[in-house]
Amino acid sequence: MQHRRIVSHLSSVPAATDNYRMTFPSHWDDGTDPSSPDHQVHWYDERTAIIRQSLRTNFEGPFLYLLLGEERALLLDTGTGHVPLRPLIEELAGERELVIAHTHGHGDHVGGDGEFDKPVGRSAEEVAAYFGFADWPNGVVQFDLGGRVLDALAIPGHHASHLAVYDRDTRLLLSGDSLYPGRLYVFDWPAFRASVARLAAFVADGNPVEWVLGAHIELTNTPGQDYEMGDARHPDEHELQLHPDVLTELAEVVAEAGEAPVRIERDHFIVYPV
Ligand SMILES: [Zn+2]
Ligand SMILES: [Zn+2]
Repeated sequence: MQHRRIVSHLSSVPAATDNYRMTFPSHWDDGTDPSSPDHQVHWYDERTAIIRQSLRTNFEGPFLYLLLGEERALLLDTGTGHVPLRPLIEELAGERELVIAHTHGHGDHVGGDGEFDKPVGRSAEEVAAYFGFADWPNGVVQFDLGGRVLDALAIPGHHASHLAVYDRDTRLLLSGDSLYPGRLYVFDWPAFRASVARLAAFVADGNPVEWVLGAHIELTNTPGQDYEMGDARHPDEHELQLHPDVLTELAEVVAEAGEAPVRIERDHFIVYPV
């Protein structure tokens, strides 16, 4: 029965075809062009916008994700709040009802909340209540945008309210600050280890991932080489997208590391206990 269920789930996922560009820009705004717009918008496919807040506006240069369904549009994160965001999001989302939620509650991900009506709260309790987690941080909950079902997992460790979002259509896994090409700040080591293990198990259990997309880039394109903290410019950035094997790698190295927090430097991420 389990096998049949997984097969039927997989067959409902559209394959990457020419109808979907499903590519990334050759170059994200890395802060080196002072005339760059406040936000760089890239349509991954016709319903998935990747938005980078310009490094010129804040050194965090966070990535925001706008996922469009037939009825609702989910904006995941509102950036640092140093530049207007709502006019852009309303233009991109059209008539759809806007849902404003977050990968987690840190200031560089919720900074623009004040522009919007009723964003989802920032605490684990509020996030659990909104999305319907009965046993936070366990379980996987579904969130339907109308013809587009997302799966959300609670992955505390970097932040108590951290979410990962899996999009069945594009097979993108949005991983926020828990996995991106940069310094993965771990504030709660046991929770982070458990979260990464759950996330890797979810992917292995019939939820194939095309790319893992996080919320920052802090590595150069030299393996394992990061920028200085707070750098306003990122020449020669690492790509945003991470191959799903990198999630497997992260799960393996934090499992092997054991119960004591330890810094782990790899080609595509640095585990950085704080
Ligand atoms: Zn964070
Ligand atoms: Zn962040």
